[in-house]
Amino acid sequence: MVVSASRSDVAPSASRNDVAPRYANWAELRAAESARMLAACTACGACFEACPMIAYVPAAQGASPGDTVRGVLALLQGGAGDAASRGWVAACTRSAVCIPACPEAVDPMLLLRLAKFTAQENGTIPPRDARDAMSRAKAFARLGFSETEQKEWL
Ligand code: SF4
Repeated sequence: MVVSASRSDVAPSASRNDVAPRYANWAELRAAESARMLAACTACGACFEACPMIAYVPAAQGASPGDTVRGVLALLQGGAGDAASRGWVAACTRSAVCIPACPEAVDPMLLLRLAKFTAQENGTIPPRDARDAMSRAKAFARLGFSETEQKEWL
């Protein structure tokens, strides 16, 4: 099976998609895309400055955009990063606002995602806790469910 970065994972720019390589599997895609990003990213910080989630990352308040991106690149390579970069990758909601902001067609959204995978795998940031996510989903659902629906579904 041949895979490529999913539509939500690749930059929409024509220059990026026109040359988007295809990969035999997820591991190959991940390794190749990581290497490409590490070579292309100049740590200019434009993605950080464009990101709407930075306002919700306490550790990133006042942080240097370039240093925070360098922290993300460190996470991608299995390092510890810093508090701002760890908070940023954890907070990413894949808005994709960062993608057109990048002058190097890196696809910062995918960069953050791959860095998060690596960081979760090596324990640098905690894995997603499904139980916690479920309790929050139930809390939100209660806002819109009737009492009968709550009894039946929650
Ligand atoms: S991913 Fe792009 S925008 Fe972000 S720091 Fe690297 S080169 Fe700059």
